[in-house]
Amino acid sequence: MTTIGVLGLQGAFREHVRSVEATGAEAVVVKKKEQLDEIDGLIIPGGESTTIRRLIDKYDFLEPIRQFGLQGKPIFGTCAGLILLASEIDGSYDVHLGVMDIKVRRNAFGRQRESFEADLDIKGVAEGYNAVFIRAPYIEGVGEETEVLATYNGHIVAAQQGHYLACSFHPELTDDHRLTAHFVQMVEESKKTLAL
Ligand code: GLN
Repeated sequence: MTTIGVLGLQGAFREHVRSVEATGAEAVVVKKKEQLDEIDGLIIPGGESTTIRRLIDKYDFLEPIRQFGLQGKPIFGTCAGLILLASEIDGSYDVHLGVMDIKVRRNAFGRQRESFEADLDIKGVAEGYNAVFIRAPYIEGVGEETEVLATYNGHIVAAQQGHYLACSFHPELTDDHRLTAHFVQMVEESKKTLAL
């Protein structure tokens, strides 16, 4: 059985659990760093990146999550989670986990567009995908190893770099579980590779 952990410090983690379970995998809410040893992949949910970072520091999660990724275990960052994965945040000296070669802009769609929905084509994953954006960031630039999976109005909103996956929107808030299923598949593949 593949077990996906959802970082449960703040934000929309319960909805991610529901989405993972809908794909047939097992999901656990991760609140202590020791639980990282019991999971095969980790989802970092949306919420408020500065708040999640504060709690990551409080519960001593930063280095353990980084090591989890460096071992080759997949991590999926959604919305605030994407910001936490990024190696560069526009207009800020702050970097959180910094494991994914992307430059992000927070709250990038402007105040008039606090939240909206859009139909996206996600390369290799889904066509006509109903994406929910809430005070969303977008990706301004990606490194050579990072593949762009989806754009909206010319802005990058989903990307993958090996075992790291990130999106600007909230894949856990609809009944379209195709992007979650893609992550579960990445985790299943990494499990096979890591077992060799
Ligand atoms: N605006 C939030 C941030 O900067 C992200 C919003 C979200 O996760 N829905 O952290």
